[in-house]
Amino acid sequence: MTALDTDQEAVAPSTLRPGWVTDRRLASLTRWVACPVSGGTEAPAALAPYDLRPTAPVPAGTPEDVEAAVRAGRRAQPAWADLPLAARAEVVLRFHDLLVERQDEVMDLIQWEMGKARFHAWQEVLQVANLARHYARASEGYLADHKVRGAVPGVTKVREVRVPKGVVGIISPWNYPFYLGIGDAIPALLAGNTVVGKADPQTPLTLLWARALMAEAGLPEHVWQVVTGPGAPIGEALVDHVDYLAFTGSTATGRVVAQRAAQRLIGTSLELGGKNPLIVRADADLLQAARGTAAAAFANTGQMCIHIERVIVHADVYDDFKEALLAATSAQKLAQTFDFTADVGSLATPSQLDKVSRHVADAVAKGATVLAGGRARPDIGPLVYAPTVLEGVTEEMELCLGETFGPVVALYRAADDEDALRIANQGTAGLSASVFSKDLTAADALARRVRAGSVNINDGASIAAGSVEAGMGGVGDSGLGRRHGGEGIRRFTDSQTVAASRIGPLGPPPGTPLEKFVALGNAQLRTLRRLGVR
Ligand code: NAD
Repeated sequence: MTALDTDQEAVAPSTLRPGWVTDRRLASLTRWVACPVSGGTEAPAALAPYDLRPTAPVPAGTPEDVEAAVRAGRRAQPAWADLPLAARAEVVLRFHDLLVERQDEVMDLIQWEMGKARFHAWQEVLQVANLARHYARASEGYLADHKVRGAVPGVTKVREVRVPKGVVGIISPWNYPFYLGIGDAIPALLAGNTVVGKADPQTPLTLLWARALMAEAGLPEHVWQVVTGPGAPIGEALVDHVDYLAFTGSTATGRVVAQRAAQRLIGTSLELGGKNPLIVRADADLLQAARGTAAAAFANTGQMCIHIERVIVHADVYDDFKEALLAATSAQKLAQTFDFTADVGSLATPSQLDKVSRHVADAVAKGATVLAGGRARPDIGPLVYAPTVLEGVTEEMELCLGETFGPVVALYRAADDEDALRIANQGTAGLSASVFSKDLTAADALARRVRAGSVNINDGASIAAGSVEAGMGGVGDSGLGRRHGGEGIRRFTDSQTVAASRIGPLGPPPGTPLEKFVALGNAQLRTLRRLGVR
């Protein structure tokens, strides 16, 4: 790779570094960039959110590198798939153990590249460790052959079996660079695929660290490769060559990716944006609801696809809830630290700060009221934005139904449950939602009518996503397909029907008149119907 000769050379690299981040360690990670053709082209380093100085240069690949990586993955796939599942699971469990042991390293990197509070970096570790353990132990069941009744019971033996897709492409964003970069790779690998993952240009080092750790756990070189560079052309090249694509990112990019994948008739899962509602019923425990709202609204500095941006409160308890939420909001400790003392950290990029500031300014200009926050906090950090609560938000304001993706939540007053449901189901997104109520039966009934892929009852956002045995994904503009659970691994396979005959080719035995054979067939149809056979 050639030396950087951009303006960034004039700017000293980020000095607000956590302990693990040294030049030598960072340089060793770039060995994991798959750039077999170009050897890596120069690319500007991302800016570290805490001081807006360059992190470390990571070479970018070219479309030819992506094509070559997919070819190498395709060559490596049969041997990987031929291993017993238990051997693949062993690698994943070793990765789990190394991760739990060395989690501080990746939490340092996540925070440095992306700016979130350390607790939220730890949640990435927690989620990946849970996924690794779960899929290592449950994949055999998820992928087991499925015995079905054959065309002629007793004569035919029929199984639906799962075969790997081949090379799976994974495109992931910067907001959960570890969890979203590897969380889908684990089931794809266990299902016998090889993987080529594209790192987001803001956070490549975190994903490279994960790749290096997998190598320590015993994963062969070309079984999981990481390509780097911008969405166009690197992400596009991935869509053009892999056998299946798991995409996580914005709805706008998801549409582009889906169209490109459709041209090749490859399958895709699309995990996209949300505008997630939280309903507070009249009977809710208001302190719990306020605590849950603050946690879900400001988690990951609001840069979480399932975080809450709309809170719909029954009119009878609106004022009391508002008071409780404002207390919970002002209790949030906003800071840039590499320890666990902050509740909320920095936004990740200047464009995120710009978008959040624009949404709030637009709402205020059109008549919304700021109840808390509503401004950047450059005194704390260059991209820090105060946890914000608004009311009086109306549909002509951009943040009413457009994803803000920042620590901003708007309060809405509902006359009753039906009105709350109407407000919750406004818009085109349908990712995650929440209902707070002491009546679990009523909350469950309401949850089933909310248009969302997941609904949390008496929790803001995390219990559904943290339940790794249950599917996670969106409806409407929030995406297609599910990660986690059975669907989260079976999407990386094709279903193949294998049907065997014990007597050779089925059909009329030689010499049998066809009329007689048809009559026998009709008699059988009537018998099956009468016996209630399905
Ligand atoms: P984005 O769509 O801009 O980028 C996501 C990834 O796609 C990046 O790696 C990017 O380089 C790549 N990309 C961009 N253009 C591409 C193209 N033309 N072809 C192929 N790849 C391309 O998303 P973002 O704004 O960086 O991420 C935040 C968004 O992701 C939010 O909308 C958030 O809600 C969503 N998200 C969804 C989930 C989920 O599980 N549903 C999880 C996290 C984030």
